[in-house]
Amino acid sequence: MKTLNFLYDKMALFLLQHFQDIFSNRGRTYSTAHPPRPELCDSCGRSLVNNNSTVFVCGHGYHIDCYHGKCTHCEEF
Ligand SMILES: [Zn+2]
Ligand SMILES: [Zn+2]
Repeated sequence: MKTLNFLYDKMALFLLQHFQDIFSNRGRTYSTAHPPRPELCDSCGRSLVNNNSTVFVCGHGYHIDCYHGKCTHCEEF
């Protein structure tokens, strides 16, 4: 019985650490790794032209030809 309690505590600590890692990674990814760049395509890096591009809620923009169903950097969009 003592052993089971010990394992349970260890698992709870592991899960807590796991979620903290996910949370901090998501924040870092959005703020520094791939910040939205106005006027630039986030897929090919070339400048966007009004009539062949689209910009999403997250701020990332793509050419119509470079967009394949979702934002490359933000899985939610
Ligand atoms: Zn492009
Ligand atoms: Zn995005």
